[in-house]
Amino acid sequence: LIEIGQPEHSVVTTCAYCGVGCSFKAEMRGEELVRMVPYKDGKANRGHSCVKGRFAWGYANHRERILAPMIRETIDQPWREVTWEVAINRVASEFKRLQAKHGRLAIGGITSSRCTNEETYLVQKLVRGGFGNNNVDTCARVCHSPTGYGLRTAFGTSAGTQDFDSVEHTDVVLIIGANPTDAHPVFASRMKKRLRQGAKLIVIDPRRIDMVRMPHIEAQYHLPLRPGTNAAMLNAIAHVIVTEGLVNEKFVRDYCDLDAFEYWASFVAEPQNSPETVGLMTGVSAESIRGAARLYASGRNSAIYYGLGVTEHSQGTTAVMALANLAMATGNLGREGVGVNPLRGQNNVQGSCDMGSFPHELSGYRHISDDATRTMFEKLWGRPLDAEPGLRIPNMFDAAIDGTFKGIYVQGEDILQSDPNTKHVQAALAAMECVVVQDLFLNETANYAHIFLPGSTFLEKDGTFTNAERRINRVRKVMTPKNGMADWEITLAIAKAMGFEMPYSHPSEVMDEIARLTPTFAGVSFDLLDKVGSVQWPCNEKAPLGTPVMHIGGFARGKGNFMITEYVPTDEKVGPRFPLLLTTGRILSQYNVGAQTRRTDNVVWHEEDVLEIHPHDAEERGVRDGDWVKLDSRAGGTTLRARITDRVAPGVVYTTFHHPNTQANVVTTDFSDWATNCPEYKVTAVQVSPSNGP
Ligand code: SF4
Repeated sequence: LIEIGQPEHSVVTTCAYCGVGCSFKAEMRGEELVRMVPYKDGKANRGHSCVKGRFAWGYANHRERILAPMIRETIDQPWREVTWEVAINRVASEFKRLQAKHGRLAIGGITSSRCTNEETYLVQKLVRGGFGNNNVDTCARVCHSPTGYGLRTAFGTSAGTQDFDSVEHTDVVLIIGANPTDAHPVFASRMKKRLRQGAKLIVIDPRRIDMVRMPHIEAQYHLPLRPGTNAAMLNAIAHVIVTEGLVNEKFVRDYCDLDAFEYWASFVAEPQNSPETVGLMTGVSAESIRGAARLYASGRNSAIYYGLGVTEHSQGTTAVMALANLAMATGNLGREGVGVNPLRGQNNVQGSCDMGSFPHELSGYRHISDDATRTMFEKLWGRPLDAEPGLRIPNMFDAAIDGTFKGIYVQGEDILQSDPNTKHVQAALAAMECVVVQDLFLNETANYAHIFLPGSTFLEKDGTFTNAERRINRVRKVMTPKNGMADWEITLAIAKAMGFEMPYSHPSEVMDEIARLTPTFAGVSFDLLDKVGSVQWPCNEKAPLGTPVMHIGGFARGKGNFMITEYVPTDEKVGPRFPLLLTTGRILSQYNVGAQTRRTDNVVWHEEDVLEIHPHDAEERGVRDGDWVKLDSRAGGTTLRARITDRVAPGVVYTTFHHPNTQANVVTTDFSDWATNCPEYKVTAVQVSPSNGP
């Protein structure tokens, strides 16, 4: 038993890990955080939490946390501690020097889905107003950018359609490319409760995730498709719905673009989309595909939940559109219990996209080329804005290697460990003249940095996070920033040093500006959030207390838009040299690249990345359970231990990407989604061979 002492006061705030967005009471004794207690009035979690949120906050005090700014002239020199003033002035002088020498477009910024809405908004404002270009991107680029593009094209908004409560009215749950018990545990519990009450379950995933079979839950259908074939599978399900007369004609007639529907229906009815043909491509029987399609279409309320197993593909956007097509064709939108629901990985993926941190969009998903929108921002910011979209993250890397992109400000993101094709990212960072990293720890990216700005934890700042159900939750300051400056203040200081004043005295004023400039946030303020707890956008005059379920009585774009979702196989092919397909995911006890969870005092966190391999493939290679194996692809190789399991099908291997010593992304390629450049993390042709260890 640990002596924790009695708390003296508590502060309600929001978990900084996954997109469920659980509310917690941080119980304090003076400035010391005693424990985190799940908050019973938290609308996303209702008093529940998982191990990460409850126990993994100790990283705020970890001995490796950097608390003073540091600089160095070249990356082979040791770091030198400096004052904040010196560090900020160095950032500004270096960026100005690079722009003077290489042009306005030679620098940019990357913000993180771990940061608050207000911080993200400020980074994109700094880049657009202070750097004078649109070279700003967010780490949502590498996870849910296809969600934004795909759902906006179909429905008119770049967000999930439902609130979490909606699952209580669902009769058929379709999970595709998501592993809720590990990645979204608190919402998974609500899903499991509904399934135990009798709702039916379809799982489409190459791996047998826990939800397929657990106490009192058994999926009616598990379609273990070959990685990379989501679009083909969804077209086959659509084929069954169209050719067997399962379309909800009234819904389509009332709410959808009929020409687009007719065109789509003829496309999916074509023989190449039949379950028999698609069964051969995906490795799933035609009978199972037909059964799953009939079950989804026949549910009174059928709901789709999906994750990165849908988006992180060369056809990520195509698959998101295909899911939207299925929901529209069966009328599963615009009421409780239905919908298309992306399970967002990081705490503020939704918010970082909403805040205009993509290079082509201002807040509220308005294109930068739209004159009226741009003018509105220009008037308030007092700066002319570039009408041309800027560089996406992978384009920044390419431009750095080409010698035209020279400096970057990275806030709260370890791009070296989390982006694909690590060697390419290393080459890009090494080619830049000024890399500025703002983070809690000296992460892998910091190995290539010239200026390190110590960041603040979620416990040290005020602001908001927006969760997977569009719920804007308050983040409240629990303790004074140990690094001396909250993240939002650092961005303001850089802007000021570059000659672009952003006069705010508190993050609430940043939210007031967001509300003024963003129609879907027009009614949001810290006062409102403090009064009602949280709201889901759109929150404006029409919906002063927010919008739990979207598209009731019609779509945000007018008529729902069916898109043609032709299956185009990925260029990443298996062959004699690389005969297996690698796909990746997460485990419950770790969070992304583990920067936080690896730095909390609990042995559970230290689980290693392992390679799951089917008994047949292991035997063929002379690999036993627990052996070291070498995992190689065209991009690179790493070494990790094997776990022999039939959770994966023959020909498929699986690992996680939590540990820097494994660096799973050394292996992944830089193929990416055709529309958004979201990397194809989920499909890599690999070979596995015995090894003596790293
Ligand atoms: Fe935090 Fe997600 Fe766990 Fe909730 S489910 S406590 S938001 S990690």
